Amino acid sequence: MIKQMKIENKFLKNELMSKHTSYRIGGPAKIFFTPANRNELIQGLKYAKSNKINIFFIGSGSNLLVSDRGINGMVISIKKNFKNFSINNNKVFAETGTMLGRIVNSTIKEGLTGLESLVGVPGTLGGALIMNAGAYGSEISNYLKTVEVVTKNGIIKKYQSDDMKFSYRNSNFSDEEILISAEFELNKANKEEINKKKIHANKGRRSSQPLKFRSAGSVFKNPKEGPAGYFIEKAGLKGFQSGNAEISEKHANFFINYGDAKAEDLVKLILTAKKSVKKLFNVNLELEIQTLGFKKGTFEL
Ligand SMILES: Cc1cc2nc3c(=O)[nH]c(=O)nc-3n(C[C@H](O)[C@H](O)[C@H](O)COP(=O)(O)OP(=O)(O)OC[C@H]3O[C@@H](n4cnc5c(N)ncnc54)[C@H](O)[C@@H]3O)c2cc1C
Repeated sequence: MIKQMKIENKFLKNELMSKHTSYRIGGPAKIFFTPANRNELIQGLKYAKSNKINIFFIGSGSNLLVSDRGINGMVISIKKNFKNFSINNNKVFAETGTMLGRIVNSTIKEGLTGLESLVGVPGTLGGALIMNAGAYGSEISNYLKTVEVVTKNGIIKKYQSDDMKFSYRNSNFSDEEILISAEFELNKANKEEINKKKIHANKGRRSSQPLKFRSAGSVFKNPKEGPAGYFIEKAGLKGFQSGNAEISEKHANFFINYGDAKAEDLVKLILTAKKSVKKLFNVNLELEIQTLGFKKGTFEL
């Protein structure tokens, strides 16, 4: 009989999170776990639960700022192995480790409309669903039908569209659950029309975003008063630096790491922008990027 490998032998210890974030910033995670399949994922979740270890889920880290001191707990990433993906007529099935770009480009090729404006949004499908990623008038949730999750107790559940709620860069999934797959139903459309929308989104992104530098996309959500970048720019903060981090000259809501910036530098930029925009315009900026491993209150004024 083949003896099953203990799940803890699959854990990486003190894995630097800077290897797993688009910012290339972040200290060590006590445990970093990349399950090979559902069975391993459930075993890992149960191990963490019975050993009272905190669990955090990540995708490809393109919307994440992790502290320099790292994460005291288990970080689970399904980016590597949960990648089954298929298109059947207008129905799309994908495991959430699949890169969003792969899904977007494949649906365009099949003449399916609905996701083409999301071209160029980095990250996995899982991260996109949690964040309700959106661009140029489209959101990932628009044509979503079902989502499968695993709870921290290791139970698999399937949500139908009525169970899920989405708003601007927000979803109602519990942070007690890891998303593992989703289904969409798109519409057939003229390929030229689809390509026009894709090109429009691509051009807009290239002309407005500092894509040559490391970032996590927009740092703040746009408040009801107007675009966050507008207020940060009007506060005179374009080009403001701390260490190797800078409020981008190209897009004031993108804060870039142009060298070996620390999380601490990003925190300084974030607090400076929040403070100035509040003082000058009485507008409250709320973070869009997700933060891990910081002390409570780090981002409060
Ligand atoms: C250059 C650039 C441009 C960007 N442009 C856009 C844009 O136009 N529109 C936009 O919406 N975003 C944009 N972003 C932000 C980012 O790409 C999206 O938020 C993306 O969807 C995040 O996916 P991810 O896999 O990297 O998630 P991560 O950053 O790894 O995680 C994001 C959140 O999702 C959670 N999470 C991730 N996967 C799972 C899972 N399987 N189960 C449960 N929780 C999970 C994490 O805990 C975290 O809270 C941009 C980022 C960059 C760097």
